[in-house]
Amino acid sequence: MEAREVDVAIIGAGSAGLSAWHAARKHSESVVLIEGGPLGTTCARVGCMPSKLLIAAADAAHHARDAGGFGVRTGPIEVDGRAVMARLKQERDGFVGHVLESMKRIDAADRIAGHARFEAPHTLIVGESLRLQARTIVIATGSRTSWPELFEAAGDRLIVNDDVFEWDELPESVAVFGPGIIGLELGQALHRLGVRVRIFGKRGSLGPFQEPALRDYADRTFNEEFYVDPQAKVETIERDGEQVIITFLERHTGKRLTERFDYLLAATGRRPNVDRLGLENAGLALNEDGVPFYNRFTMQCRNENESGSHVFIAGDANQELPLLHEATTQGRIAGDNAGRYPERRAGLRNTPLSIVFTDPQMATIGQGRAVLEQRLGGCDRIAVGEATFDNQGRARVLRQNRGLMRLYAEHGSGLFLGGELFGPRMEHIAHLLAWALEQRAGVSQMLDMPFYHPVLEEGLRSALRDLSANLQQGPAIVERCMEHGPGD
Ligand SMILES: Cc1cc2nc3c(=O)[nH]c(=O)nc-3n(C[C@H](O)[C@H](O)[C@H](O)COP(=O)(O)OP(=O)(O)OC[C@H]3O[C@@H](n4cnc5c(N)ncnc54)[C@H](O)[C@@H]3O)c2cc1C
Repeated sequence: MEAREVDVAIIGAGSAGLSAWHAARKHSESVVLIEGGPLGTTCARVGCMPSKLLIAAADAAHHARDAGGFGVRTGPIEVDGRAVMARLKQERDGFVGHVLESMKRIDAADRIAGHARFEAPHTLIVGESLRLQARTIVIATGSRTSWPELFEAAGDRLIVNDDVFEWDELPESVAVFGPGIIGLELGQALHRLGVRVRIFGKRGSLGPFQEPALRDYADRTFNEEFYVDPQAKVETIERDGEQVIITFLERHTGKRLTERFDYLLAATGRRPNVDRLGLENAGLALNEDGVPFYNRFTMQCRNENESGSHVFIAGDANQELPLLHEATTQGRIAGDNAGRYPERRAGLRNTPLSIVFTDPQMATIGQGRAVLEQRLGGCDRIAVGEATFDNQGRARVLRQNRGLMRLYAEHGSGLFLGGELFGPRMEHIAHLLAWALEQRAGVSQMLDMPFYHPVLEEGLRSALRDLSANLQQGPAIVERCMEHGPGD
């Protein structure tokens, strides 16, 4: 077996791994990037970009159908599935091409093809023929879809997101399992492109929302357009010929229905790719899912004996926030620290921000109400403000007047803490709010900002005004907290 010694080894050439490579390279000439699968990153090949391309086509069809509501008559709308998929693949290949082009900056000798696994804390076996000694190692191995065994009955009609983006044309019908971010995005897009879709969930959750009010509002809104049951009672899944037969209780009538679908799309969550890494040989302390414990500011893993390890972890592999911008940030911090090890520096971790490209869009900013309540102690420290888009001027103009936002701030200090948004084009308002949170803005400060007319941001102002009215500031709140004591 060939033997090689390097300074830093990075496992996984996805967004986190590439970012880690560039950061580590600032400290050392001897940095290798190991990739066991196809190059081009999950985001560009089978994730963010192709899903947004599918959604863009779906939105075009939707707006064309909706034009009549403005008095604009169009002919019958026809979706050419072949053309939709051809454009998707062409644009997707362009995005992948950019990644491959940028990878040329990495010396061919420093790009190693093969699956890596730990043989010992500093030793990796790559493929069957290379033993690599590394002073430090970054795990950036991403994640993959996981599904319950029940789905196996669908045989090769059981698919994941990767398969959707390989279609040459659109199928007639798809049963989507999992009303999380990926399931809702793909499910709604396929529906709008004329595919018969039903979305089944199990535990009652919908997208990223924690607030029952937002979840219920979104549930009602989506169900006006397509079938989604977050707490579905699916009885059987069977394969028959080239189709999947699903028997379930229809959520509105309670009737038992048996329907045929071309595919069962599993969007039931993603598991980190740490199970085939031989982590038992790495000397690391692992959590119950087999993921190493790590410091979220340095991305440094912890050894079994509680000391800091020479191994770092970034991106989907650590399960923290499986999002693209998180993968690149974490990769940069992990690569920087792997390069400068044993010195380490705490990196800047941004405020949590997540956006779902459904219509209306869903977004969350900050740590979420449950974590905030825990962090701020038991005496009710959180003020809530809300506004709907049902009668918001700009939203009505656009015929997109559906939505609800809930924002949080801290009683006493008046500091903005985050929120959950459901409404038209929330990607933009979500950014404004994430930036305000990063700047530690107060609600009154945010209300002092300019608001043009007529814009969707006026809906945000309504929610901020409500939040401001509900905020208790001054001596009253201090007394209230003293009465109850923190932690009550
Ligand atoms: C359908 C879909 C839509 C999405 N949409 C969005 C979105 O709109 N916005 C957003 O922010 N995020 C989105 N995401 C999430 C985003 O794509 C991921 O968070 C991000 O790509 C993770 O990057 P990563 O570097 O951690 O993993 P990856 O890019 O998956 O890289 C990991 C790499 O490691 C390799 N590897 C694994 N194990 C080994 C091993 N043992 N040896 C060698 N190589 C190995 C894999 O082959 C892979 O190439 C989406 C994801 C999906 C699936």
